Amino acid sequence: MNQIIAIDGPSASGKGTVAQRVAEQLGFHYLDSGAIYRLTALAARQQGVLWSDEDSVLSVAQYLDVVFDGERILLSGVDVSDAIRSEEIGSGASQIAALPKVREALLARQQAFAQAPGLVADGRDMASVVFPAAPLKVFLTASAKVRAERRYRQLIGRGEAADLAVITADLEARDARDRARTVAPLAQAEDAFLLDTTEMDIDAAVAQVLLWWRA
Ligand code: C5P
Repeated sequence: MNQIIAIDGPSASGKGTVAQRVAEQLGFHYLDSGAIYRLTALAARQQGVLWSDEDSVLSVAQYLDVVFDGERILLSGVDVSDAIRSEEIGSGASQIAALPKVREALLARQQAFAQAPGLVADGRDMASVVFPAAPLKVFLTASAKVRAERRYRQLIGRGEAADLAVITADLEARDARDRARTVAPLAQAEDAFLLDTTEMDIDAAVAQVLLWWRA
């Protein structure tokens, strides 16, 4: 099965929304790979494992009991769809994502999503590591200012307290860590199309990806 669209990019670039909409339009499956890193960070926290302790996080990753049930994500039978979206767990995900053994352990779990009729996968290394043979690769980005504003509106929309300055600093720290790590650093793959959504809305971004796919 090689009907795969790989969409990578920095935090809050809009890649999740774009990937989900493209998947809907094509009737494809959708993989939110960031959720798998977030689940690992949350499970580690629940088990009292430090995010820097590679061998212990590895065993958390190996035994992760996850069910993706439509919009809901269950961790050991408990709905954690909201719990994994906090800024703190996002930061933990980025810390455990820098551990090579943990990335290796989560690889097969992500590749298992590649099923007929097709898959749209979003993350940081979909094009470079997880689905290197994907026929369409997109690097979706936007300026740090616009990304921080989008995340701010998202949090406010969910009724959460949010501070734009804190969000901007957090996004920048997370992106710097994702770009600097030694394994699968965040970067545009050589054969990926660049899609900068700083001045583009979601509909236009979705339309562009569909245009590339159908070309
Ligand atoms: O995309 P999201 O913000 O949910 O991802 C959380 C963190 O998980 C990212 O900051 C990144 O460090 C890590 N991640 C990754 N590789 C992926 C997806 C996410 O390293 N494919």
